[in-house]
Amino acid sequence: MIDPRELLAIKRDGGALSAAQSASLLEAYTRGEVADYHAAVLLTSIFIHGMTDEELAGWTRGMIGTGRTLSFESDQPIVDKHSTGGVGDKVSLPLAPALAACGCAVPMISGRGLGHTGGTLDKLEAIPGLRTEFDADELQGLLDAAGFFIAAQTEDLVPADKLLYALRDVTGLVASPPLISSSILSKKLAEGLDALVLDVKVGSGSFLTTDEMASEVTRRMHVIASDFDLPMTIFRTSMTGPLGRAVGHSLEVAESLECLRGGGPEDLRELVVRFGGELLRLAKRAEDAESGQAMIEAALDGGDALAAFQRGVEAQGGDPSVIDDPSALPAAPDREELCAPSAGYMSFTDCAAVGRAVGALGGGRTHLGDVIDTGVGVIFSKRQGEEVEAGEPVCVIHHRDGESLEEARAQLTAAFTVAGSVEVDPLILDG
Ligand code: URA
Repeated sequence: MIDPRELLAIKRDGGALSAAQSASLLEAYTRGEVADYHAAVLLTSIFIHGMTDEELAGWTRGMIGTGRTLSFESDQPIVDKHSTGGVGDKVSLPLAPALAACGCAVPMISGRGLGHTGGTLDKLEAIPGLRTEFDADELQGLLDAAGFFIAAQTEDLVPADKLLYALRDVTGLVASPPLISSSILSKKLAEGLDALVLDVKVGSGSFLTTDEMASEVTRRMHVIASDFDLPMTIFRTSMTGPLGRAVGHSLEVAESLECLRGGGPEDLRELVVRFGGELLRLAKRAEDAESGQAMIEAALDGGDALAAFQRGVEAQGGDPSVIDDPSALPAAPDREELCAPSAGYMSFTDCAAVGRAVGALGGGRTHLGDVIDTGVGVIFSKRQGEEVEAGEPVCVIHHRDGESLEEARAQLTAAFTVAGSVEVDPLILDG
Protein backbone atom coordinates (compact mmCIF):
# COMPACT_ATOMS: atom_id res chain seq x y z
CA MET A 1 0.00 0.00 0.00
CA ILE A 2 1.58 3.34 -0.98
CA ASP A 3 1.13 6.64 0.83
CA PRO A 4 0.32 8.93 -2.11
CA ARG A 5 0.75 12.21 -0.25
CA GLU A 6 4.41 12.72 -1.10
CA LEU A 7 3.81 12.16 -4.82
CA LEU A 8 0.71 14.36 -4.81
CA ALA A 9 2.79 17.12 -3.22
CA ILE A 10 5.26 16.99 -6.13
CA LYS A 11 2.48 17.86 -8.58
CA ARG A 12 0.75 20.24 -6.17
CA ASP A 13 3.98 22.26 -6.03
CA GLY A 14 4.40 22.29 -9.82
CA GLY A 15 7.08 19.60 -10.08
CA ALA A 16 7.26 16.69 -12.52
CA LEU A 17 6.64 13.01 -11.73
CA SER A 18 9.14 10.46 -12.99
CA ALA A 19 7.82 7.62 -15.15
CA ALA A 20 8.23 5.26 -12.18
CA GLN A 21 6.32 7.60 -9.85
CA SER A 22 3.46 7.98 -12.38
CA ALA A 23 3.31 4.22 -12.87
CA SER A 24 3.20 3.49 -9.15
CA LEU A 25 0.45 6.07 -8.52
CA LEU A 26 -1.62 4.87 -11.47
CA GLU A 27 -1.24 1.22 -10.56
CA ALA A 28 -2.15 1.86 -6.92
CA TYR A 29 -5.20 3.90 -8.00
CA THR A 30 -6.34 1.11 -10.31
CA ARG A 31 -5.97 -1.43 -7.51
CA GLY A 32 -8.14 0.80 -5.28
CA GLU A 33 -5.28 1.66 -2.92
CA VAL A 34 -5.39 5.34 -3.87
CA ALA A 35 -8.78 6.95 -3.36
CA ASP A 36 -10.81 9.04 -5.82
CA TYR A 37 -10.14 12.08 -3.61
CA HIS A 38 -6.39 11.55 -4.01
CA ALA A 39 -6.84 11.17 -7.76
CA ALA A 40 -8.99 14.32 -7.91
CA VAL A 41 -6.23 16.30 -6.18
CA LEU A 42 -3.65 14.89 -8.58
CA LEU A 43 -5.79 15.69 -11.63
CA THR A 44 -6.40 19.22 -10.34
CA SER A 45 -2.65 19.75 -9.98
CA ILE A 46 -2.00 18.44 -13.49
CA PHE A 47 -4.83 20.62 -14.79
CA ILE A 48 -3.25 23.71 -13.22
CA HIS A 49 0.49 23.06 -13.69
CA GLY A 50 0.49 20.85 -16.80
CA MET A 51 3.18 18.24 -17.48
CA THR A 52 6.52 18.26 -19.22
CA ASP A 53 6.75 16.29 -22.49
CA GLU A 54 8.95 13.66 -20.84
CA GLU A 55 6.62 13.39 -17.86
CA LEU A 56 3.61 13.02 -20.20
CA ALA A 57 5.27 10.19 -22.15
CA GLY A 58 5.99 8.39 -18.84
CA TRP A 59 2.47 9.06 -17.57
CA THR A 60 0.95 7.65 -20.78
CA ARG A 61 3.13 4.52 -20.56
CA GLY A 62 2.05 4.23 -16.92
CA MET A 63 -1.62 4.45 -17.97
CA ILE A 64 -1.17 1.71 -20.60
CA GLY A 65 0.73 -0.38 -18.04
CA THR A 66 -2.25 -0.51 -15.69
CA GLY A 67 -3.85 -3.06 -18.03
CA ARG A 68 -3.02 -5.27 -20.95
CA THR A 69 -2.91 -4.38 -24.60
CA LEU A 70 -5.29 -5.91 -27.11
CA SER A 71 -4.18 -7.92 -30.09
CA PHE A 72 -6.65 -8.82 -32.81
CA GLU A 73 -6.35 -11.43 -35.51
CA SER A 74 -7.39 -10.06 -38.87
CA ASP A 75 -6.34 -10.24 -42.51
CA GLN A 76 -7.48 -6.63 -42.78
CA PRO A 77 -5.52 -3.59 -41.63
CA ILE A 78 -6.60 -2.56 -38.12
CA VAL A 79 -7.55 1.12 -37.97
CA ASP A 80 -9.40 3.55 -35.72
CA LYS A 81 -10.34 7.20 -35.29
CA HIS A 82 -10.89 9.17 -32.11
CA SER A 83 -12.02 12.70 -31.42
CA THR A 84 -11.25 15.06 -28.57
CA GLY A 85 -15.02 15.48 -28.23
CA GLY A 86 -17.58 18.00 -29.35
CA VAL A 87 -21.28 18.79 -29.48
CA GLY A 88 -23.24 16.57 -31.86
CA ASP A 89 -20.08 14.65 -32.82
CA LYS A 90 -21.46 11.35 -34.10
CA VAL A 91 -18.80 10.70 -36.77
CA SER A 92 -17.75 7.33 -35.31
CA LEU A 93 -21.21 5.82 -35.83
CA PRO A 94 -21.16 5.97 -39.65
CA LEU A 95 -17.37 5.94 -40.03
CA ALA A 96 -16.60 2.61 -38.31
CA PRO A 97 -19.01 0.54 -40.49
CA ALA A 98 -18.03 2.49 -43.63
CA LEU A 99 -14.39 1.53 -43.02
CA ALA A 100 -15.39 -2.08 -42.35
CA ALA A 101 -17.24 -2.06 -45.68
CA CYS A 102 -13.99 -0.86 -47.32
CA GLY A 103 -11.93 -3.79 -46.04
CA CYS A 104 -10.60 -2.56 -42.70
CA ALA A 105 -11.00 -4.00 -39.22
CA VAL A 106 -12.11 -1.31 -36.76
CA PRO A 107 -11.85 -2.20 -33.06
CA MET A 108 -13.21 1.10 -31.81
CA ILE A 109 -12.87 1.59 -28.06
CA SER A 110 -14.97 4.64 -27.22
CA GLY A 111 -16.02 6.65 -24.23
CA ARG A 112 -19.13 7.86 -22.47
CA GLY A 113 -20.29 11.46 -22.19
CA LEU A 114 -17.63 13.78 -20.90
CA GLY A 115 -18.43 17.26 -19.62
CA HIS A 116 -20.81 18.97 -22.05
CA THR A 117 -20.18 16.41 -24.83
CA GLY A 118 -22.18 13.25 -25.44
CA GLY A 119 -20.32 9.93 -25.58
CA THR A 120 -20.33 7.55 -28.53
CA LEU A 121 -21.15 4.60 -26.25
CA ASP A 122 -24.11 6.38 -24.69
CA LYS A 123 -25.41 7.25 -28.16
CA LEU A 124 -25.09 3.70 -29.43
CA GLU A 125 -26.78 2.34 -26.31
CA ALA A 126 -29.90 4.28 -27.31
CA ILE A 127 -30.46 1.33 -29.67
CA PRO A 128 -32.64 -1.07 -27.64
CA GLY A 129 -30.73 -4.11 -26.41
CA LEU A 130 -27.35 -2.96 -27.69
CA ARG A 131 -24.46 -3.69 -25.34
CA THR A 132 -21.11 -1.93 -25.31
CA GLU A 133 -19.48 -3.68 -22.34
CA PHE A 134 -17.60 -6.81 -23.37
CA ASP A 135 -14.57 -8.67 -22.17
CA ALA A 136 -11.43 -8.89 -24.30
CA ASP A 137 -12.20 -12.41 -25.55
CA GLU A 138 -15.64 -11.39 -26.84
CA LEU A 139 -14.24 -8.45 -28.84
CA GLN A 140 -12.50 -10.68 -31.39
CA GLY A 141 -15.87 -12.36 -32.09
CA LEU A 142 -17.51 -8.96 -32.69
CA LEU A 143 -14.74 -7.95 -35.07
CA ASP A 144 -15.09 -11.24 -36.97
CA ALA A 145 -18.88 -10.84 -37.20
CA ALA A 146 -19.10 -7.27 -38.48
CA GLY A 147 -15.60 -6.00 -39.29
CA PHE A 148 -15.95 -3.41 -36.55
CA PHE A 149 -17.20 -2.87 -33.05
CA ILE A 150 -17.78 0.19 -30.91
CA ALA A 151 -17.28 -0.86 -27.32
CA ALA A 152 -16.26 0.34 -23.90
CA GLN A 153 -12.83 -0.15 -22.48
CA THR A 154 -12.59 -3.70 -21.23
CA GLU A 155 -11.84 -4.16 -17.55
CA ASP A 156 -8.17 -4.56 -18.37
CA LEU A 157 -7.69 -2.03 -21.22
CA VAL A 158 -6.13 1.05 -19.62
CA PRO A 159 -8.27 0.66 -16.48
CA ALA A 160 -6.65 3.79 -15.04
CA ASP A 161 -8.17 5.87 -17.85
CA LYS A 162 -11.59 4.33 -17.30
CA LEU A 163 -11.52 5.54 -13.71
CA LEU A 164 -9.87 8.90 -14.38
CA TYR A 165 -12.17 9.67 -17.35
CA ALA A 166 -15.28 9.24 -15.20
CA LEU A 167 -13.72 11.27 -12.39
CA ARG A 168 -12.70 14.11 -14.74
CA ASP A 169 -16.25 14.18 -16.11
CA VAL A 170 -17.86 14.88 -12.75
CA THR A 171 -15.14 17.17 -11.37
CA GLY A 172 -14.81 19.59 -14.32
CA LEU A 173 -11.25 18.46 -15.07
CA VAL A 174 -11.54 17.60 -18.74
CA ALA A 175 -10.02 20.56 -20.60
CA SER A 176 -6.37 19.85 -20.00
CA PRO A 177 -4.08 19.19 -23.01
CA PRO A 178 -1.88 16.59 -21.24
CA LEU A 179 -4.89 14.81 -19.72
CA ILE A 180 -6.79 14.72 -23.02
CA SER A 181 -3.73 13.58 -25.02
CA SER A 182 -2.77 10.82 -22.61
CA SER A 183 -6.37 9.65 -22.14
CA ILE A 184 -6.97 9.25 -25.86
CA LEU A 185 -3.60 7.90 -26.90
CA SER A 186 -3.24 5.42 -24.03
CA LYS A 187 -6.44 3.70 -25.24
CA LYS A 188 -5.58 3.88 -28.91
CA LEU A 189 -2.02 2.62 -28.39
CA ALA A 190 -3.37 -0.32 -26.39
CA GLU A 191 -5.62 -1.41 -29.30
CA GLY A 192 -2.80 -2.80 -31.47
CA LEU A 193 -3.58 -0.50 -34.44
CA ASP A 194 -1.97 -0.23 -37.88
CA ALA A 195 -3.25 3.33 -38.43
CA LEU A 196 -5.05 6.07 -36.51
CA VAL A 197 -6.81 9.34 -37.35
CA LEU A 198 -7.35 11.85 -34.58
CA ASP A 199 -9.89 14.65 -34.76
CA VAL A 200 -8.82 17.57 -32.59
CA LYS A 201 -11.82 19.85 -32.29
CA VAL A 202 -11.44 23.56 -31.70
CA GLY A 203 -14.08 26.15 -30.82
CA SER A 204 -16.65 26.87 -28.16
CA GLY A 205 -18.21 23.39 -28.42
CA SER A 206 -14.88 21.66 -27.81
CA PHE A 207 -12.86 21.31 -24.62
CA LEU A 208 -10.20 23.08 -26.67
CA THR A 209 -11.72 26.49 -27.10
CA THR A 210 -8.70 28.25 -28.58
CA ASP A 211 -6.28 27.53 -31.44
CA GLU A 212 -3.47 27.55 -28.87
CA MET A 213 -5.06 24.75 -26.84
CA ALA A 214 -5.83 22.69 -29.95
CA SER A 215 -2.27 23.16 -31.22
CA GLU A 216 -0.94 22.13 -27.83
CA VAL A 217 -3.02 18.92 -27.83
CA THR A 218 -1.90 18.21 -31.41
CA ARG A 219 1.75 18.72 -30.46
CA ARG A 220 1.39 16.60 -27.31
CA MET A 221 -0.20 13.77 -29.27
CA HIS A 222 2.63 13.79 -31.80
CA VAL A 223 5.13 13.70 -28.92
CA ILE A 224 3.44 10.66 -27.35
CA ALA A 225 2.88 8.83 -30.66
CA SER A 226 6.44 9.36 -31.89
CA ASP A 227 7.56 6.83 -29.28
CA PHE A 228 5.24 4.14 -30.67
CA ASP A 229 5.81 4.20 -34.45
CA LEU A 230 2.10 4.33 -35.29
CA PRO A 231 1.01 5.83 -38.66
CA MET A 232 -1.27 8.66 -37.53
CA THR A 233 -2.84 11.79 -39.03
CA ILE A 234 -4.33 14.54 -36.90
CA PHE A 235 -7.09 16.73 -38.34
CA ARG A 236 -8.04 19.96 -36.59
CA THR A 237 -11.73 20.65 -37.17
CA SER A 238 -14.03 23.50 -36.28
CA MET A 239 -16.48 23.10 -33.39
CA THR A 240 -18.01 26.58 -33.35
CA GLY A 241 -21.49 25.12 -33.87
CA PRO A 242 -22.88 21.61 -33.32
CA LEU A 243 -21.88 18.99 -35.89
CA GLY A 244 -24.97 18.09 -37.89
CA ARG A 245 -28.42 19.19 -36.82
CA ALA A 246 -29.10 16.74 -33.98
CA VAL A 247 -27.74 16.82 -30.43
CA GLY A 248 -28.94 14.09 -28.06
CA HIS A 249 -28.46 10.34 -28.09
CA SER A 250 -31.37 8.83 -30.06
CA LEU A 251 -31.56 11.88 -32.29
CA GLU A 252 -27.89 11.50 -33.20
CA VAL A 253 -28.30 7.80 -33.94
CA ALA A 254 -31.15 8.69 -36.31
CA GLU A 255 -28.97 11.32 -38.01
CA SER A 256 -26.12 8.82 -38.32
CA LEU A 257 -28.52 6.42 -40.05
CA GLU A 258 -29.29 9.16 -42.59
CA CYS A 259 -25.55 9.49 -43.24
CA LEU A 260 -25.26 5.70 -43.61
CA ARG A 261 -27.99 5.92 -46.25
CA GLY A 262 -25.92 8.41 -48.26
CA GLY A 263 -27.76 11.49 -46.92
CA GLY A 264 -27.70 13.46 -43.69
CA PRO A 265 -26.04 16.79 -42.99
CA GLU A 266 -23.15 17.78 -45.25
CA ASP A 267 -20.68 18.53 -42.46
CA LEU A 268 -21.14 15.07 -40.94
CA ARG A 269 -20.66 13.38 -44.30
CA GLU A 270 -17.60 15.53 -45.06
CA LEU A 271 -15.82 14.41 -41.89
CA VAL A 272 -16.75 10.75 -42.38
CA VAL A 273 -15.46 10.86 -45.96
CA ARG A 274 -12.23 12.78 -45.18
CA PHE A 275 -11.27 10.73 -42.12
CA GLY A 276 -12.20 7.48 -43.84
CA GLY A 277 -10.25 8.36 -46.99
CA GLU A 278 -7.17 9.21 -44.95
CA LEU A 279 -7.39 5.98 -42.94
CA LEU A 280 -7.69 3.93 -46.13
CA ARG A 281 -4.55 5.67 -47.41
CA LEU A 282 -2.63 5.14 -44.16
CA ALA A 283 -3.72 1.49 -44.12
CA LYS A 284 -2.67 1.11 -47.79
CA ARG A 285 -6.20 0.14 -48.81
CA ALA A 286 -6.22 3.15 -51.16
CA GLU A 287 -3.45 4.67 -53.27
CA ASP A 288 -4.14 8.14 -52.00
CA ALA A 289 -6.63 9.97 -49.77
CA GLU A 290 -8.82 11.02 -52.73
CA SER A 291 -9.38 7.45 -53.90
CA GLY A 292 -9.97 6.45 -50.27
CA GLN A 293 -12.64 9.16 -50.04
CA ALA A 294 -14.32 7.84 -53.18
CA MET A 295 -14.40 4.35 -51.61
CA ILE A 296 -16.07 5.70 -48.46
CA GLU A 297 -18.60 7.66 -50.54
CA ALA A 298 -19.44 4.53 -52.51
CA ALA A 299 -19.90 2.55 -49.27
CA LEU A 300 -22.30 5.21 -47.93
CA ASP A 301 -24.22 5.69 -51.15
CA GLY A 302 -24.38 2.03 -52.18
CA GLY A 303 -25.65 0.58 -48.88
CA ASP A 304 -22.53 -1.40 -47.89
CA ALA A 305 -21.82 0.82 -44.89
CA LEU A 306 -25.43 0.49 -43.72
CA ALA A 307 -25.28 -3.30 -44.10
CA ALA A 308 -22.06 -3.36 -42.04
CA PHE A 309 -23.75 -1.20 -39.39
CA GLN A 310 -26.64 -3.66 -39.23
CA ARG A 311 -24.19 -6.56 -38.72
CA GLY A 312 -22.48 -4.57 -35.95
CA VAL A 313 -25.77 -3.74 -34.20
CA GLU A 314 -26.81 -7.40 -34.31
CA ALA A 315 -23.41 -8.61 -33.10
CA GLN A 316 -23.64 -6.23 -30.12
CA GLY A 317 -27.14 -7.47 -29.26
CA GLY A 318 -29.06 -4.44 -30.55
CA ASP A 319 -32.48 -4.42 -32.17
CA PRO A 320 -31.78 -4.03 -35.92
CA SER A 321 -35.37 -2.90 -36.63
CA VAL A 322 -34.34 0.67 -35.66
CA ILE A 323 -32.26 0.79 -38.82
CA ASP A 324 -35.35 0.80 -41.04
CA ASP A 325 -37.53 2.43 -38.42
CA PRO A 326 -35.65 5.05 -36.37
CA SER A 327 -38.95 5.90 -34.66
CA ALA A 328 -38.33 2.70 -32.62
CA LEU A 329 -35.48 4.53 -30.85
CA PRO A 330 -36.33 5.89 -27.38
CA ALA A 331 -37.94 9.30 -27.80
CA ALA A 332 -38.90 12.10 -25.45
CA PRO A 333 -42.63 12.70 -25.76
CA ASP A 334 -42.71 16.50 -25.74
CA ARG A 335 -41.50 19.24 -28.11
CA GLU A 336 -40.93 22.96 -27.84
CA GLU A 337 -39.71 25.32 -30.53
CA LEU A 338 -37.24 28.10 -29.88
CA CYS A 339 -37.59 31.05 -32.25
CA ALA A 340 -35.20 33.75 -33.44
CA PRO A 341 -35.68 37.01 -31.50
CA SER A 342 -34.83 39.09 -34.60
CA ALA A 343 -33.87 38.74 -38.25
CA GLY A 344 -30.23 38.11 -39.21
CA TYR A 345 -27.77 35.23 -39.28
CA MET A 346 -27.46 32.35 -36.86
CA SER A 347 -24.33 32.72 -34.76
CA PHE A 348 -23.27 30.18 -32.12
CA THR A 349 -21.44 32.09 -29.41
CA ASP A 350 -21.23 29.29 -26.83
CA CYS A 351 -21.75 25.94 -28.50
CA ALA A 352 -20.95 24.06 -25.27
CA ALA A 353 -24.19 25.52 -23.87
CA VAL A 354 -26.08 23.35 -26.39
CA GLY A 355 -24.46 20.31 -24.79
CA ARG A 356 -25.29 21.63 -21.33
CA ALA A 357 -28.91 22.14 -22.42
CA VAL A 358 -29.16 18.48 -23.45
CA GLY A 359 -27.45 17.51 -20.19
CA ALA A 360 -30.01 19.53 -18.23
CA LEU A 361 -32.88 17.80 -20.03
CA GLY A 362 -31.54 14.49 -18.66
CA GLY A 363 -29.05 13.61 -21.39
CA GLY A 364 -25.91 14.05 -19.25
CA ARG A 365 -24.39 12.97 -15.95
CA THR A 366 -23.53 15.10 -12.98
CA HIS A 367 -22.60 12.20 -10.69
CA LEU A 368 -20.71 8.98 -11.27
CA GLY A 369 -23.19 6.30 -12.34
CA ASP A 370 -26.11 8.64 -13.22
CA VAL A 371 -28.55 7.08 -15.71
CA ILE A 372 -29.09 9.25 -18.77
CA ASP A 373 -32.24 9.84 -20.77
CA THR A 374 -31.34 8.91 -24.36
CA GLY A 375 -34.60 10.32 -25.78
CA VAL A 376 -34.08 14.01 -25.03
CA GLY A 377 -32.19 16.47 -27.22
CA VAL A 378 -32.33 19.36 -29.66
CA ILE A 379 -32.70 19.48 -33.44
CA PHE A 380 -31.51 22.65 -35.14
CA SER A 381 -33.28 23.82 -38.26
CA LYS A 382 -30.79 26.70 -38.56
CA ARG A 383 -27.04 26.23 -38.68
CA GLN A 384 -24.10 28.55 -38.11
CA GLY A 385 -24.31 31.45 -40.60
CA GLU A 386 -27.79 30.60 -41.98
CA GLU A 387 -30.25 33.43 -42.49
CA VAL A 388 -33.24 33.61 -40.10
CA GLU A 389 -36.41 35.68 -40.01
CA ALA A 390 -37.61 37.26 -36.77
CA GLY A 391 -39.84 34.72 -35.00
CA GLU A 392 -38.71 31.84 -37.21
CA PRO A 393 -37.99 28.55 -35.32
CA VAL A 394 -34.26 27.81 -35.03
CA CYS A 395 -34.50 24.58 -33.08
CA VAL A 396 -36.89 22.10 -31.50
CA ILE A 397 -36.27 20.89 -27.94
CA HIS A 398 -37.22 17.25 -27.32
CA HIS A 399 -38.07 17.05 -23.61
CA ARG A 400 -39.86 14.88 -21.09
CA ASP A 401 -42.82 16.49 -19.32
CA GLY A 402 -41.04 19.86 -19.20
CA GLU A 403 -38.36 18.45 -16.91
CA SER A 404 -35.61 21.09 -16.63
CA LEU A 405 -37.01 22.75 -19.73
CA GLU A 406 -36.48 26.21 -18.31
CA GLU A 407 -32.80 25.48 -17.67
CA ALA A 408 -32.41 24.03 -21.17
CA ARG A 409 -34.10 27.07 -22.69
CA ALA A 410 -31.77 29.37 -20.76
CA GLN A 411 -28.70 27.41 -21.91
CA LEU A 412 -29.85 27.48 -25.54
CA THR A 413 -30.58 31.18 -25.36
CA ALA A 414 -26.97 31.64 -24.20
CA ALA A 415 -25.68 29.34 -26.95
CA PHE A 416 -26.47 31.53 -29.95
CA THR A 417 -27.45 35.00 -31.07
CA VAL A 418 -28.85 36.34 -34.29
CA ALA A 419 -26.13 38.58 -35.74
CA GLY A 420 -25.96 41.09 -38.60
CA SER A 421 -23.33 39.00 -40.32
CA VAL A 422 -21.41 35.84 -39.48
CA GLU A 423 -18.14 34.45 -40.71
CA VAL A 424 -18.32 30.67 -40.96
CA ASP A 425 -15.03 28.83 -40.28
CA PRO A 426 -14.00 26.10 -42.69
CA LEU A 427 -14.99 22.73 -41.20
CA ILE A 428 -11.54 21.20 -41.61
CA LEU A 429 -8.91 23.64 -40.41
CA ASP A 430 -5.95 21.43 -41.25
CA GLY A 431 -4.97 17.81 -41.60
N1 URA B 1 -11.83 11.54 -25.29
C1 URA B 1 -11.11 10.77 -24.43
O1 URA B 1 -11.04 9.55 -24.59
N2 URA B 1 -10.46 11.36 -23.43
C2 URA B 1 -10.48 12.69 -23.23
O2 URA B 1 -9.87 13.16 -22.32
C3 URA B 1 -11.23 13.50 -24.12
C4 URA B 1 -11.91 12.90 -25.15
